[in-house]
Amino acid sequence: MWDDDGREYIDASSGPMVSAIGHCNERVVDAIAAQARQLDYAYSLVARNRRNLEFSERLARLAGPGYERVSLTSGGSEAVDNAVKFARQYAVATGQESRTRVLALDPSYHGATLSTLALGGDPTLDRFLDGFVTRSEKVPAPMSYRIPDGHSAESYAAFCAEELERTILALGAETVLAFLVEPVGGLSTGAVVPPPSYFDAIRDICTRHGVFLIYDEILCGMGRSGEFLTARNWPDALPDIVVLAKGLGSGYTPLGAMLAPAGLVDELATISGFNFSYSANANPISCAAGLAVLDEFERLDLVTCARERGAQLGAGLHELERTHPIVGDVRGIGLLWAVELVADRETKQPLPAAFQPSEKALIHGQRNGLMLYARSTAGAPHGNWFMVAPPLTITQAETAELLHRLDRTLAGLSSDAAAEGLLAGPGG
Ligand code: PLP
Repeated sequence: MWDDDGREYIDASSGPMVSAIGHCNERVVDAIAAQARQLDYAYSLVARNRRNLEFSERLARLAGPGYERVSLTSGGSEAVDNAVKFARQYAVATGQESRTRVLALDPSYHGATLSTLALGGDPTLDRFLDGFVTRSEKVPAPMSYRIPDGHSAESYAAFCAEELERTILALGAETVLAFLVEPVGGLSTGAVVPPPSYFDAIRDICTRHGVFLIYDEILCGMGRSGEFLTARNWPDALPDIVVLAKGLGSGYTPLGAMLAPAGLVDELATISGFNFSYSANANPISCAAGLAVLDEFERLDLVTCARERGAQLGAGLHELERTHPIVGDVRGIGLLWAVELVADRETKQPLPAAFQPSEKALIHGQRNGLMLYARSTAGAPHGNWFMVAPPLTITQAETAELLHRLDRTLAGLSSDAAAEGLLAGPGG
């Protein structure tokens, strides 16, 4: 990307993990223009359009068995909303009206509409939301870096899964509708990847209690993890419903999708149907853009790219972790990584809020030709990190250049922190 002064940047985070196929892709631009000339709009409940059919079929094919039905929206928040509404409508249609409670992780993020804010795990919103909307019940997220004494990441994840079951039993399983979870964390946890045992455990718990397991793959899905669906990394523990957005439209158009199994959707269709739509869902221009994005996914084999370039990026980030003491942790999967900044690597003590670690990371990144993504909300109770998640089209040489610029970025950050006497150890 280039700014107003002609300075060049690598988009090292795909915006907020949106631009999966990179910017200004001519094939997508042409598909949008052609569709706009042919059919700009048709309301999906009155007139189905061919691009909707083609896009939904292609998406279901890429998602694979178990996710044959697609419901489209204009973004991630709407798609999460649809997933929960679908679960609720199924419960009501099958005589399980008592299932009204949704469980989610703390911390987590599921969107910015009122309902999705209410679902997400951000305690700083308590004053805004309490008494105003019905919140989800929170269970601890299986964080991997700062975990309670005596726990390993694996044992803490097992504890978090047990907390899920304890919460379900405390509420009464017959009142619990769904468990909503980001299988790989986004900005809220900084790309935390739970151990496989966690997925086995939550799948088993949800199955035993008749609770819908919904994966919010809005940020981590669409190939970024090295599988088209992140859920496929743990094939024995697949969720009931998957939600996608961000990379689905890759920034060319607002798009989100809920994916669900044919059996469930077709059963509901014979009872009550799924009775909610938006004026703009399955908009032909958005569907044409989405189809062209999926064409690029297949033409360029971007899922394989995510795996290969992800291995290069991950190895390079771990190398930077070794050479820069300001880096406390590097974690991620595929082309979705977070770099956690600390004042003291031994104690994992975060940098003070007054230092503005996230803002400084963005500034030093920009100075070195990198657009990064970071945000410290409410004093960052779980620490400070920035995301490294470039478009899946990044080349080997560009990945090396990104790492080179990140090296300089971390050096700049370290010298700022050292100048303020914030870094423990040599040079601090
Ligand atoms: N869920 C997750 C995990 C996200 O990261 C986001 C956006 O950042 C959303 C939901 C909401 O998506 P949107 O901003 O498209 O409404």
